[in-house]
Amino acid sequence: MAECIRFVCGHCARAIDAWSDGNPFYLDEGGKKRYAYHPDHQNLDRCIANDVPHLCLGCGSKRKVDSRKPRTDCPTCKVGRLVATWDLEGQPCPYCKTGVFARHGSVGIS
Ligand SMILES: [Zn+2]
Ligand SMILES: [Zn+2]
Repeated sequence: MAECIRFVCGHCARAIDAWSDGNPFYLDEGGKKRYAYHPDHQNLDRCIANDVPHLCLGCGSKRKVDSRKPRTDCPTCKVGRLVATWDLEGQPCPYCKTGVFARHGSVGIS
């Protein structure tokens, strides 16, 4: 089961939704990435890694980071730090540069 958590900036109210299980994927016969989502349990069992949604705390850009090749440097602004979106609690907001994100609660389950 996947849960969607919403984090909201206490200053500018910018909201970021994060799914607890990210984007699990497996490689097909040709070595190409294929995503598997609930309730596709047959393919979920084949998953070898996860494209984890990250947010840059410097410029606010979002990108997926392959769990086989974790990185924290932002290729967009070069100076920001990438943080997994479900780890945003207490992190500084990159949009207003003033507030911090607080866990707003669960907004969905699939
Ligand atoms: Zn903010
Ligand atoms: Zn950045």
